[in-house]
Amino acid sequence: MVNLIIFGAPGSGKGTYASRLKDRLNVEVIATGDIFREMMKEETPLGRKVKGYVEKGLLVPDAITLEVLKQSLAKIPRGKGFILDGYPRTIEQAEALNGIAKIDAIIHLIVPDWIIIERLSSRRICKNCGAIYNLLYLKPKNDMVCDKCGGQLYQRSDDTPEVIKKRIEVYEKQTQPLLQYYMAKGVPFVEAKCEKLETPPETIVEEILKGLKRLNLA
Ligand code: AMP
Repeated sequence: MVNLIIFGAPGSGKGTYASRLKDRLNVEVIATGDIFREMMKEETPLGRKVKGYVEKGLLVPDAITLEVLKQSLAKIPRGKGFILDGYPRTIEQAEALNGIAKIDAIIHLIVPDWIIIERLSSRRICKNCGAIYNLLYLKPKNDMVCDKCGGQLYQRSDDTPEVIKKRIEVYEKQTQPLLQYYMAKGVPFVEAKCEKLETPPETIVEEILKGLKRLNLA
């Protein structure tokens, strides 16, 4: 059983790699952003509340986010580990997590800014199963239709140039300091660098798995 956090700027590939690592490591993925988008789609009362934050690229208040995290963790079968994608994003959230679960390692994705901008503006997601595509290098076989389930693809409402800028700013200011925080706590890191737009996700996934094996975590 292994508990991991995947860190990286918006568009660094967290969701893409986490979904592929899920089966290889037999873990659950908890992606708070996905959970918020699902609530927004369903137009639940909480969904209406978080929409204003998500669509501006701002962080949803900690009280809501922590509750969502706790509910997701409670659903994980006993003995199974997890990858957190998009949580924690602030020191406060990391402190709250400390009280709930032990983290075995951090996966840190290092991706240059220009790749992030290219990726985010051409990212498309399946409305039905959440699979992630990219019109530049991870294209669906048929235009705007999911290869896996036939669902329709859509563009996230926060993948617009103005909101992307804000999300990167929020990441640098509020989330990046967490790397230092976990380093100081002695949590081991696995770093994966992506320097080309066309690098296939599988290459990065193998690099991550190699790093986890070195730590005896895979
Ligand atoms: P993501 O899919 O991880 O890029 O998240 C999309 C948006 O959901 C973010 O820009 C935030 O508005 C919100 N969000 C996701 N996770 C968190 C979190 N841990 N804390 C606060 N807001 C979050």
